[in-house]
Amino acid sequence: MPNAPVQLEAIARIALPVPLYSAFDYTPPAGENLPAVGARVRVRFAHRTLIGVCVSVNPPDPHAAPKPLLSILDAESIVDAELFDLAHWLADYYHHPLGEVLSTMLPNAAMKGAELTWQPEALWQRTTLQVDLARAPRQRQLLAFIDRNDGSATAVEIRAAGFATAMIDSLAHKGALEPGKRTYTLEPAPTLTAEQRTAVATMKTQLGNFVPNLLDGVTGSGKTEVYLQLIDLVLERGEQALVLVPEIALTPQTVRRFQRRFGATGVMHSNLTDTERMTAWLRCRDGSTRILIGTRSAVLTPFKNLGLIVVDEEHDSSFKQTEGLRYSARDVAVKRAQTLGIPLILGSATPSLESLHNVTTGKYTRHRLFSRATGAAMPQLHVVDIRGQPLRDGISQSLERRIAKHLQADSQVLVFINRRGYAPTYLCTACGWQALCQRCDARMTFHTTPRGLTCHHCGARKPLPSWCPDCERDALVPIGVGTQRTEIGLNERFPNVPVYRIDRDTMRSQRRLEARLEDIRTGAPAILVGTQMLAKGHHFPNVTLVAAINADAGFLSADFKAPERTAQLIIQVAGRAGRAEKPGEVWVQTLQPENPVLKRLIDDGYAAFAEMELEIRRSAGLPPSRPMALIRSETADPTLGATFLAELKSSIGNDVEVLGPAPAPMARVASRYRHQLMLVARTRQQLHRALAGLRGRTGPRALRWAIDVDPYDTF
Ligand code: ADP
Ligand code: ZN
Ligand code: ZN
Repeated sequence: MPNAPVQLEAIARIALPVPLYSAFDYTPPAGENLPAVGARVRVRFAHRTLIGVCVSVNPPDPHAAPKPLLSILDAESIVDAELFDLAHWLADYYHHPLGEVLSTMLPNAAMKGAELTWQPEALWQRTTLQVDLARAPRQRQLLAFIDRNDGSATAVEIRAAGFATAMIDSLAHKGALEPGKRTYTLEPAPTLTAEQRTAVATMKTQLGNFVPNLLDGVTGSGKTEVYLQLIDLVLERGEQALVLVPEIALTPQTVRRFQRRFGATGVMHSNLTDTERMTAWLRCRDGSTRILIGTRSAVLTPFKNLGLIVVDEEHDSSFKQTEGLRYSARDVAVKRAQTLGIPLILGSATPSLESLHNVTTGKYTRHRLFSRATGAAMPQLHVVDIRGQPLRDGISQSLERRIAKHLQADSQVLVFINRRGYAPTYLCTACGWQALCQRCDARMTFHTTPRGLTCHHCGARKPLPSWCPDCERDALVPIGVGTQRTEIGLNERFPNVPVYRIDRDTMRSQRRLEARLEDIRTGAPAILVGTQMLAKGHHFPNVTLVAAINADAGFLSADFKAPERTAQLIIQVAGRAGRAEKPGEVWVQTLQPENPVLKRLIDDGYAAFAEMELEIRRSAGLPPSRPMALIRSETADPTLGATFLAELKSSIGNDVEVLGPAPAPMARVASRYRHQLMLVARTRQQLHRALAGLRGRTGPRALRWAIDVDPYDTF
């Protein structure tokens, strides 16, 4: 009998989407070769069938008897070398299992075993046929939307605008819509301002090299125009560009602005179907998408020939994933640009302290744009000292007078409150009882429409009690102010002017938001009351007064990052004012006008505030001067978390400072108790060594725990 051929490599190591840090060994399916590294395979694992990715092939281990793979799904790797390295880097840096990293990176459809094929984008356009839609108001609205959208729209755009796919079919059936091909009317680039020109000229010389840039420019300074002109140069070199934007800013207007300059673009966001996402992914990989505009996860897309990454509004919280693989898309963008040897632009009017810190240490190059591209003046910031002043629905008399003045001048007013509902507290003035959530350590918010109490942390709802459940007296009152209350109050005081409330409760769909924004853009006098939904990305040319009425809370919070976030919000909202011809002013109501941090922000601007806040962080030994990680635990048991975290802590060496275990600032949410350990180190290396030592530790069955490197908040 002839000798069997010597098999040097007979084992495939498979990373599986399970919360375990190791990969698992399998032999090839009977009669087949080993899978390629990077190919998907189907395996049996713990009585389930799973799809994983082959991460290496190895010589057989005489001491183990691995099971055969069920099947090999790909003849070759579907993960290119750069993406594979990125997966390993993510697994190391965020201390997350490689199998879960890979399943986060690959399109959902691929992880479900679908073939890697893409479908052409469905584009619908108007026909000239007039159809009777008298009894189909939604279909009429859809046609009006398509008309506004230059006569055509993709299925993705139509869905994003809040219309059902079935409506497209029915309009197509009636002959009002037909499949089409989009034609773009391209618009020429404007002449750059001197500041923009300097920034573009510098970054132009960086193409083909890794240079991280911070484009620090006031709202309306033309940062987007700087991106556009650099992207133009990148496309000329035959390369692709990736533009990351915050969740809330990825609007049809944003996409259209890119399309007006360059024609077709790809988009990637959480609203795509599995097939659409797979298509967008593959089209970037094979190079047919030249520009991808996307939210957080778009940073994990493979490209054939990427030449530039832009992260717009780099300070925005939506770039950080807060569960599973807790990555920061901004930081991953830096890593990718470095690996690929390409420039990166982080843009913001309110840069994160991390990025400013990186400017100070010389890691990033900062470019500043001090003035608005259109020549409009920057709004002036002031404080309203409300100590001892009566407030009505959150508004002081002096602010009320100012609002009246701006409305009389035919302008619009924007009132910013970072809180939904009518009032954050509902209490008994006789005995002090408060409406608390039974499942969270939180008060329930009083809402007028729909009327009742709601917990903003777990979503629990309760009808409004008419008498105090404790003392049974009729003495319940709402305390404090949210958007609903201010809306109602302003409506009473300014009955002849529309008051538009813009928050998650009123703007549940993109379509409603768009319609509302259209009302506002007519420029007629109006009051806009809203949460941070108003702070991002929108242009309100006729808003000349911006008021932040309860910004104080942010400067007093227990979370060390709260002042930074609050300052960013104030400046972002302020940036909505006076973007056109009329100059704008911004008033911040405060009970602590002498607060040095707030004072610095108002008097000297964001950059000066940031310097001060960086100094505070430095002297407290907090990020960004030292790296931090949180270990969070969550369990139904009130004390288990603390016990488990104390155990983890005892195994951490003493070159890392460990604070806790302590209950999380919001200690109980949805009946689950949350604890945390805070790790702060002098160097990243020390931090990573400590975290690596904790990997794979298993807690009690009923407890979930996770490592969060560079946490966005400490809640
Ligand atoms: P940012 O991204 O910094 O907020 P944008 O790029 O959106 O600023 O520009 C703000 C406004 O100024 C936009 O309406 C834009 O069309 C206009 N704009 C930008 N650059 C120029 C320029 N060089 N000349 C004229 N208008 C410009
Ligand atoms: Zn009572
Ligand atoms: Zn709750």
